[in-house]
Amino acid sequence: MPELPEVETVRRGLQRLIIGKIVKSVSHDTEKSFPNSPSAVSEFIVGSSILKVHRRAKVLLLELSSNYVLMVHLKMTGQIVFVGDDRFGAGHPNDSLINNLPDKSTRVVITFTDGSTLYFNDQRKFGWMKLLPKELVNEEPFMQKVGPEPLEPEFTATVFVARIRRRKGTSIKAALLDQTVLAGVGNIYADESLWGAKIHPATIVKKLDNSQLEELYKELKFVLELAIEKGGSTDKNYVNAEGKKGSYIDFARVFRREGLACPRCSTIIEKSRVAGRGTHTCPVCQMNNEEA
Ligand SMILES: [Zn+2]
Repeated sequence: MPELPEVETVRRGLQRLIIGKIVKSVSHDTEKSFPNSPSAVSEFIVGSSILKVHRRAKVLLLELSSNYVLMVHLKMTGQIVFVGDDRFGAGHPNDSLINNLPDKSTRVVITFTDGSTLYFNDQRKFGWMKLLPKELVNEEPFMQKVGPEPLEPEFTATVFVARIRRRKGTSIKAALLDQTVLAGVGNIYADESLWGAKIHPATIVKKLDNSQLEELYKELKFVLELAIEKGGSTDKNYVNAEGKKGSYIDFARVFRREGLACPRCSTIIEKSRVAGRGTHTCPVCQMNNEEA
C-alpha cells in the first residue's frame, strides 16, 4: 500500500506536470472508483484547470479552478500515470506504470486540452476519485480524524511524544500505524524507524521513556525524508517524475530483509507479527521484553 512518501512522490510529479492544464474530458468504468454524477463532472471538472496538487496523509487533493477538489485515495493498489511529453507514474508498483494505457486496471481517464492524459489505475478497486466543493474538504470524516503531518515544521519531537503517549497501553508499532496519532505512516516506515531507534515494535508505549521516543521521532523523519528523496518504497517497475525507478527499498535496513544480516550487528533479521502486521526486527538490536 502506498504510504506517505509514495503519495508525496505522486504529488510532486503531478505538481510539476499538470498545473494549468485544462480538462477536456473524463471517462470512468465503475462508480465505486469514480462516485460522481455526470452533471457534476461536466459542470465542475470539464473545462476547469488544475490549480494545485495537495496531499493530506495518503490522500491527494487536485484543486480545480471551479472551486471544486478532486480527492484521490490510492488505497491498496491505486496508481497515477501521466502521459504527455513526459511520462510519470507512481503509486502501486505493477506493469501498468509502464504499459500502454488504458489497460484492464484503468478506472478513470482524464484528458487535457493539450492532448496529455492522466490515468487512475487500480487493480483491486478499493481506491477512488471523489469530487467535492473545496469548502467541504475539511469536513470529510477522514480529514477530521487524521493526525498531524509528520514532516511539517510544527510536528516537533514534543508533539510526537505527547501524541504517542495517548496510546500508552498499546504497542509502539500500533501507535505509529494509528492514523489519528500521526498521518501517513504504514508498515514499511514503522519497521524501519523502530529498527533505527533500536525499539522492539511490540514494546508497550508506557514502558518507553522520552529519550527513546525522541530517538524514534528522529528516525521516523529520517526514513520518510530519505524515502521521498529516493522516490518511494516500491521495488519494481516504479517510475518517478524523471522516469527513474524508485529505490527506497534498496536502502531499507530491516523491512522485507528477513533471513538477511542486520546492517548494524549482522544478526539474522526475523519476521513476526505485531499489531496484526508482518513485522521485521533484529532480535539483538531490538530486544523484546514483552513476549509479544
Ligand atoms: Zn542488529
